[in-house]
Amino acid sequence: MSQQGYVAAPPYSQAQAGMGGYSTGFGNPPPQSHYGYGSPPQGYSAPPTGVLKPPASSPSGMPPPPVSSQYGANIQQNGAHPHSSFPPPVASAPSMSPYGQPPQGAFHSMAQVPPPTQQLSNQMSAMNIGGYGQRPMQGPQSPSSSAAPQYQTSPPPAMGHPPLSPPGPQPSSLGSPPPMATMGPMAGPPMGMSGPPGPGVNQPQLGPQGYPQQPGSPIAGPYGAQMAGPQMAGPQSGAFPGGFPGGPAQMAGPPQKKLDPDSIPSTTQMIEDDQAKRGGQVYVTNIRGQVPPLVTTDFTVQDQGNASPRFMRCTTYSFPCTADLAKQCKVPLAAILKPFATVPKNETPLYIVNHGEAGPIRCNRCKAYMCPYMQFIDGGRRYQCGFCSCVNEVPVQYFQHLDHMGRRMDMYERPELSLGSYEYIATLDYCKNNKPPNPPAYIFMIDVSYNNIKSGLVKLICEELKTLLDRLPKEEGAETSAMKVGFVTYNKILHFYNVKSALAQPQMMVVSDVAEMFVPLLDGFLVNFQESRAVINNLLDQIPDMFADTNESETVFAPVIQAGVEALKAAECSGKLFIFHSSIPTAEAPGKLKNRDDRKLVGTEKEKTLFQPQRGVYEQLAKDCVAQGCCVDLFLFPNQYVDVATMGDVPSHTGGSVYKYSNFQMEVNGQQFLSDLRKDVEKSIGFDAIMRVRTGTGFRATDFFGAIYMNNTTDVEMAAVDCDKAVTVEFKHDDSLSEESGAVMQCALLYTTIGGQRRLRIHNLSLNCSSQLSELYKSCETDALINFFAKSAYRAMLNQPLKVVREILVNQTAHMLACYRKNCASPSAASQLILPDAMKVFPVYMNSLLKTPSLVGSTELSTDDRAFHRFLVNSMGVEETQVLLYPRLIPLHTMDVSSEAIPAPVRCSEERLNESGMFLLENGLLMFLWLGQACPPDLIQNLFNVPSLGHLSSEVQTSLPVLDNAHSKKIHSIISSISQQRASSMKLLIVKQKDRSETLFRQHLVEDKGLHGGASYMDFLCYVHREIRQLLT
Ligand SMILES: [Zn+2]
Repeated sequence: MSQQGYVAAPPYSQAQAGMGGYSTGFGNPPPQSHYGYGSPPQGYSAPPTGVLKPPASSPSGMPPPPVSSQYGANIQQNGAHPHSSFPPPVASAPSMSPYGQPPQGAFHSMAQVPPPTQQLSNQMSAMNIGGYGQRPMQGPQSPSSSAAPQYQTSPPPAMGHPPLSPPGPQPSSLGSPPPMATMGPMAGPPMGMSGPPGPGVNQPQLGPQGYPQQPGSPIAGPYGAQMAGPQMAGPQSGAFPGGFPGGPAQMAGPPQKKLDPDSIPSTTQMIEDDQAKRGGQVYVTNIRGQVPPLVTTDFTVQDQGNASPRFMRCTTYSFPCTADLAKQCKVPLAAILKPFATVPKNETPLYIVNHGEAGPIRCNRCKAYMCPYMQFIDGGRRYQCGFCSCVNEVPVQYFQHLDHMGRRMDMYERPELSLGSYEYIATLDYCKNNKPPNPPAYIFMIDVSYNNIKSGLVKLICEELKTLLDRLPKEEGAETSAMKVGFVTYNKILHFYNVKSALAQPQMMVVSDVAEMFVPLLDGFLVNFQESRAVINNLLDQIPDMFADTNESETVFAPVIQAGVEALKAAECSGKLFIFHSSIPTAEAPGKLKNRDDRKLVGTEKEKTLFQPQRGVYEQLAKDCVAQGCCVDLFLFPNQYVDVATMGDVPSHTGGSVYKYSNFQMEVNGQQFLSDLRKDVEKSIGFDAIMRVRTGTGFRATDFFGAIYMNNTTDVEMAAVDCDKAVTVEFKHDDSLSEESGAVMQCALLYTTIGGQRRLRIHNLSLNCSSQLSELYKSCETDALINFFAKSAYRAMLNQPLKVVREILVNQTAHMLACYRKNCASPSAASQLILPDAMKVFPVYMNSLLKTPSLVGSTELSTDDRAFHRFLVNSMGVEETQVLLYPRLIPLHTMDVSSEAIPAPVRCSEERLNESGMFLLENGLLMFLWLGQACPPDLIQNLFNVPSLGHLSSEVQTSLPVLDNAHSKKIHSIISSISQQRASSMKLLIVKQKDRSETLFRQHLVEDKGLHGGASYMDFLCYVHREIRQLLT
């Protein structure tokens, strides 16, 4: 074994200069010859059969907890780890071990609020709504009962009584958020106060309602306790959640007839509060179980031993100790991993560790990679695995003495000992056939059938590629991209092109036998763009003309993917297919599809079949693609049903994306498509990836959701994984967890870089464990929870009737909240709805999820749109599901044109609109500009250059002129700043109040009753409250 990998490694403080110098940080990345031919094979996915060592039996041999790495007194915001900022470990440094072993008290002192205060503020801001003021207790059984329930807000009687700790100081001093007051008072809207919705009540349709009439019986079981409290709730004008006097509720006259909409928990308020509290701060990841700021908050991450929340977020940062507790609360335990998440420029890019021929150091038993959770013992000669407790020998060349604290002297010089995320250069053992991979290739496959030619799409794509190919991703520091490109056109037959640089003209080769797809040329199909630029540009000029007179309207599809896979196979590389396709593939060929869109199935047991892909050919194709590392991106331009459920199946198993531009018109969707294509081609991506999530003893990863493929129960295969793709992982107990050791997890992703280097990307995260459910609820993250629920529901709808899926969601919501009420909240009137602080806006997200096109089950929605929506959500990260399920509604008429900031969003409800106003709504996929009827003419003039609203067409407009005035500039700057934050480009739709097109906009006002079914937020909350009360009695 050579030592050079370690000896030669300079401290990683050199890997700096922005992203540059990235790969030079840890010794030079080895030229191919560096790979360790001689080292023993350590297959990445080898079963953990290695040498079994007995676990350490005596904790007495353990070193004292490491002192937290401070990286000097100043927190570095700009990425650099200058050499000098690594102070030698100092004994007097406060003990803040990030890594688990020490008792909690040791490191609560820093960023964690001491329990009592936390508890109190938790209780304090627990939401209280006194519902059903005058209704009899048995109300729940009669949802349509006449008596309009009375809603009032009331002070939370619970707040002075945290169950586990003495009351703290005056609640008011603890930063309970102020009442929602973003908008001025609006005319009282018709709030539909006719009571909690039941099927059929106040709703146009029975089917899409979303609610079970009765909760599922199983969940009623555990709750035997009588929570019958006084029926009355103190009516009180103070809106949720601030401004409560400390005392108990006071009766103050008859209950109000109408609940102030401001009184129910507000997502925008919660987002604003978190931004105010944690925005602009540095989030240091040195504390186990620390709950990160919200995804919507602007913060900087400093990695000190746990992965950044950009890479990993959890549904809760405190796992229950036992399976029984987990079962009791029904809060899913899950992590959302975005292994390639974009790291902002002011944060440190991942360091690259190069251990040379020896390769990464791994636990002999569980194969976990060296990380901060490994404990060095025995003078540094051995280490105990933080995942399986196995005691391993430290390889000779990796030996390092320990300091008096038991930490390795070189801890801060090695990313793998001190950071949550880093990369290893992989050795040949991690490569297919023990050969270093070739750089990946991008193959552009253009449907040249009649529709695409007629719409001008083919010409548009060809023109764009001429410049876009100059922007192919490249390895840090490389001058040009190492990626190869290839071109195919097709309708019923396929045309391959030889674009070898030596040719004067491109050559076309036709394959008409689509049943047995093969690639007619090897040399000259996949080329380097820089070298073949002239031939490629020539080809791109010719393609639109070659097919200009086509009458062919039939297409094939599966053979196109097959051709791409074969081409990559022949070139021995991974890569991505960009397929630009317009119609349902009806030509005689494998994978031929037929129209099976039958909306009569909506609302029936068979509705699920609409979303199930056609099996057979496509199933096998997905398998072939993954085996070859062939990702498929599908750009669809349909004029009618194309069976998205089937066509999107391969992309959704290969880490690919599906884009859909219905009724494509150059003027309407041209820019959006080009912008999506550019983002897609340029984005950072890894290929031929396989991911394994390892966990500490007591729990394990049991289920995975994403654009992934699973050949077995543990290896997550992705033909490619880009910066926007997330995998949601669910965990289950297989034993109990201890509060002392917490719950650790390690996500290891083996992949090929765009330059053809094999690497391992490691993300580590440590969570707390508690036998107190209150800890779990306190550490919940609503945005992560809803991501999990969305993905699990969207999978479940393939196998179960949608009605059942919706029922499960509602039941689980009620169950989680009832369990909190029963076990964590202090006793209070049953009429009070009490929500855990960290989940107080969970119901609005859940209700919004129930109203999404996929789940709502309306015959008015296109089947393809619903299937498309499913695919989108399937690979979304937490940021994306958050804004999708709670869009931002931004008032523009009141904005300060001199300020840089985006105006604060208001609640996503019709009643926040204002007819003399103008609002922008965005959900990450779509953007609307809504113009009130009485919108000031000068504003209209400034934005559209017409004298009044009446001069604007009532057709949906999609473009906003760029004009030379402050308003116009400001709005364009807001739009572009929002667009930059989002993964896909958003088409702008301009709608006028009361125009027909307004309904497109209104269906995104998620606090209101759904246009296609589904309740308003208020009604949903009441319904859930009723369910909770039923569970508690
Ligand atoms: Zn282990």
